Amino acid sequence: MRKKVILIATASFVSLILVAYGSDVLKDQSVVDLSKNFQKETPIEIKNGFEISEDDSSKIALNGKVLSNQIVTAQSEFTARFTTNKEVELFDTNDAEILQFSKNENEYRYIVKISNLGPGENLRTIKLRTKINSTYNIQKNKEEFPISNRIELSWEIYREKEDLGFSQGYIPRFEGSGYIFDGDDLAANVSKRNSLTSDYAPKDLVDLNLDKKLITNTPKMFLRAEAADALVEMLKQLKKETGKDLVIASGYRSFRNQESTYTGWVKQFGKIEADRISARPGYSEHQLGTAVDFFSSDTGFQFTNEFDKSVVGKWLKENSYKFGFIQSYPEGKENITGYKHEAWHYRFVGYDTAKKVRESGLTLVEFLSNI
Ligand SMILES: [Zn+2]
Repeated sequence: MRKKVILIATASFVSLILVAYGSDVLKDQSVVDLSKNFQKETPIEIKNGFEISEDDSSKIALNGKVLSNQIVTAQSEFTARFTTNKEVELFDTNDAEILQFSKNENEYRYIVKISNLGPGENLRTIKLRTKINSTYNIQKNKEEFPISNRIELSWEIYREKEDLGFSQGYIPRFEGSGYIFDGDDLAANVSKRNSLTSDYAPKDLVDLNLDKKLITNTPKMFLRAEAADALVEMLKQLKKETGKDLVIASGYRSFRNQESTYTGWVKQFGKIEADRISARPGYSEHQLGTAVDFFSSDTGFQFTNEFDKSVVGKWLKENSYKFGFIQSYPEGKENITGYKHEAWHYRFVGYDTAKKVRESGLTLVEFLSNI
């Protein structure tokens, strides 16, 4: 849900403060207007104020005066919309990106996302300057860029520390979900509907690094023997066809381990988002000992869906089923799988099953629900 909050910006001095809900202390704002130092260009102006995404943990204020009880999103990110008199771009700005841009005569509209907000207070400044290639040529030396065409917007954002609503050892189960009693079954349908029991652990785990000589992100990375053998074969073939290696970023994860993994995500992003990107303990395919996450040097050894578009990612999507592996959470299927797309996450289900899943065109969870 998005409610509209319009704040009035005065001339080129704009200040916007988002403060803690219930707090009377308002810190001073700031937009730094450097235009007096350099008058060659028309200064950048923010027209008609801002519009900000909201939630229930902050109030919006301008120049120390609380404008409204409407509330601003205090998840790990928020978006701000604004309009400028000239085309601008971000520079020297961390953890912010322009999500959308449109032009209408002499108005330039932007949606900027500010991300990675930690719990508590965050002071964030975004720096805007006239888009380099739009109105004139920038000098080679960045410092010669006319400073009149720079503007800074600062926000003070309070992100409420979320009450977890549970303690780590007592993470609630998904309502109405059942249990899987045979975790050794390669086709065990672990999903938000069915979990493993807290004491399930595979008995035939092998060390991918020590035993299988694979490249792993951390020492002691385990997978069930059959899955590990298939993985070795798959990576051998990948190397042969593409010349590339993959790093195994995660393998088997115990129920206890998943408790802290999931809790960590809740602390960082809140429960709703955590449930989209991470499994609650018992509900993770990693507890089966047959799921792996891959890192690639081509995508900076990070969990990114760009992986799908890389040479290795494309190869895996086309060929992994031949080795018994299926990408569990494909793009555009969150409503079915319950999880955001994870280009890097593959699960071994056995050669025959993988082939059938591939032929069916279904997601893994759909296929396993139907057998
Ligand atoms: Zn994974």
